[in-house]
Amino acid sequence: MTIDLKKYVATVPDYPEPGVMFRDISPLMSDGEAYRYATDQLVDYARSKNVDMVVGPEARGFIVGCPVAYELGIGFAPARKEGKLPRETVKATYDLEYGQSALYLHKDAIKPGQRVLVTDDLLATGGTIGATIDLVEDLGGIVVGTAFIIELKDLHGRDKIKDYDIFSLMEF
Ligand code: 5GP
Repeated sequence: MTIDLKKYVATVPDYPEPGVMFRDISPLMSDGEAYRYATDQLVDYARSKNVDMVVGPEARGFIVGCPVAYELGIGFAPARKEGKLPRETVKATYDLEYGQSALYLHKDAIKPGQRVLVTDDLLATGGTIGATIDLVEDLGGIVVGTAFIIELKDLHGRDKIKDYDIFSLMEF
């Protein structure tokens, strides 16, 4: 059975600001069959990469990465914004359209040499996933793949992470 996942993405013009076409994956997640179908493909990809650990940035990276980790019986580590992780962390900054932002991982989230899959719902400019990769590598992890539900081709995130394998379920 194949499911056309694009049917489960709602396009919202001018959100969160004028000129932006926001791709909303909540219809996909709220349909059990579509969510499982999408997750199964990400699991197959992760399995093909012999992954030891999944890491995703808050918040939609959790929605994508946690079911993959659960299915494979491996761990998930959340990359979080400032002030959310209670123990010692590593930090990576990335550029936004105006200014900078930062993500953090607990220092013991990844063991050196672990094979890590990095996940998020969507690849746009690549800033968020680039920072997540930096965190994993800072801890000695090996990023063996990156996986997304959606890739926005026009924003060229692929160029920012060109040294890494990229798997996405659909493109806009
Ligand atoms: P990037 O850092 O690649 O420019 O942007 C990707 C990040 O922003 C992801 O964490 C993603 O959740 C969020 N994001 C940016 N644009 C969209 C969008 O159109 N739809 C969704 N669902 N997330 C977006």
